[in-house]
Amino acid sequence: MRKQRLVWVLGIFNIILLCSSCTDTNTDTLLDMRFYDINKIYNLENIAPIAILGSGPAGECAALYGGRAGFDTLVLEGTTPGGLLTQTTLVENWPGSTEIQGPKIIVNLKEQSGKWGAKFELDTVEKVDFNQWPFKLYTADGKKINALTVVLATGATPRYLGIPGEQEFWGRGVTTCAVCDAPFYKDEDVVVVGGGDSAAEEAMQLAPYAKNITILVRKDHMRASAAMQTRLQEYSQISVRYNVEVKEVLGDEMQVTGVTLYNNKNDTTEHMPISGVFLAIGHIPNTKFLGDAIKLTNHGHIHLADRTQETSVQGVFAAGDVADARYRQAGVSAGHGISAGLDATFFLNEIGFNQDVQTKLKDEYRLYTPTAESDYKVLEINDLEEFKRVVVESDKPAIVDFYADWCPTCMQMLPAFTAVAQDMEDKITFVKVDADQAKEIIKTYKVAKVPALLAFKDGDVVERHAKTMTKRELYAFGESLIK
Ligand code: NDP
Repeated sequence: MRKQRLVWVLGIFNIILLCSSCTDTNTDTLLDMRFYDINKIYNLENIAPIAILGSGPAGECAALYGGRAGFDTLVLEGTTPGGLLTQTTLVENWPGSTEIQGPKIIVNLKEQSGKWGAKFELDTVEKVDFNQWPFKLYTADGKKINALTVVLATGATPRYLGIPGEQEFWGRGVTTCAVCDAPFYKDEDVVVVGGGDSAAEEAMQLAPYAKNITILVRKDHMRASAAMQTRLQEYSQISVRYNVEVKEVLGDEMQVTGVTLYNNKNDTTEHMPISGVFLAIGHIPNTKFLGDAIKLTNHGHIHLADRTQETSVQGVFAAGDVADARYRQAGVSAGHGISAGLDATFFLNEIGFNQDVQTKLKDEYRLYTPTAESDYKVLEINDLEEFKRVVVESDKPAIVDFYADWCPTCMQMLPAFTAVAQDMEDKITFVKVDADQAKEIIKTYKVAKVPALLAFKDGDVVERHAKTMTKRELYAFGESLIK
């Protein structure tokens, strides 16, 4: 009898243990099925079963796994399609390749995720609502997307110094992209600010062009890897100065002429004549558009649950530099993108979204369909006389996009420029100029950087922009000219 009671007590104890371990493992994934009720989707349109924000390695790899699982996967490519890798050149630490160009990695990844059915839209999410499900995504092009699950892979943006002259001379000697602008500094003296791998890489990208490249490091040592620092020594035109801080960017009415440097070891200030300032001082995660929809870390990265890509909102995952303060490597972003893509597919399975439901939505035209690619071609002019005739002497205002084949940000803006040109061509003349072919036009209109957008009205240059613009910004730019 005693033995029986003991067995009975142990049995109860076991059940308690089992149940507590059940709840333990389930707490992380326990979903409130009233919130994630699959029936809510049947009266909606513009549904994206998996919506991925960002198209760097993290976004593309998430798309690959979403697509391979058979789910309709939408990639909203953002303002920098392909992400920061498109602004690098040689990459030596991408797994599986001893040497590969950064933009080529992105081309390969996009081709691979596209092969598995991922769909791409050249649009940027500006606002999200994660308080209701399906989640709402509001884009720069004015679209509202109903996303069943979301992967945030929006990356990070270069940091600025915030010193006098930096904004004033932006695009006129101050830049964050050596691969974009190095050819404009042939035989010039330039500085690179920063002490990390990016600074080392920027300096090496400048080496074939600039005469003297000085890396300005604020501490008494560089943060760049030992391998990078060793490679720097192979370049006689690159030197490193330590304990120096840039306090001001100086220039004339045209472009940068120098910087004011403070030596924090000797407490001295000096003027350094140079014509280019390349900033490489780290990055800020792109989370502003999220508002308070999601929990961030103290450093502004997206907070993730331990060892998963899950954010503070169930059904929303994050990967890549936007959620990574530690590794910040393309390979790591790709791996985390894969995890996030898998997490998204697990989530869809959990809420009961399957191929039958997807087929039903597809048959009823409720799935989001990306804008079809246009075959419209923007007029290209590289001859000064023709340029004067078509642009300068015309009664119609004109927007001119100066680009170059080797400039990744130029290539990223071209689709948006083409779309706006097609829509506004009856009111504005849109022209593109190849900076490599049109030396006389470049010289006449003093273009010192690509991409550059110049607006012409009544024969004069009335506005200049030395940065890429989103479709919405281009529309606003066009509208302001015809007012
Ligand atoms: P990091 O954060 O590694 O380095 C930023 C550098 O900028 C540091 O030297 C920092 O100085 C300096 N800095 C920051 N703010 C200022 C300021 N206001 N004034 C002057 N200097 C400042 O950023 P990176 O962009 O270089 O690298 C990011 C990640 O990407 C890293 O993990 C890096 O390894 C990786 N990467 C890898 C590459 C490769 O392997 N091919 C190429 C490029 C990047 P301090 O040290 O004093 O804080």
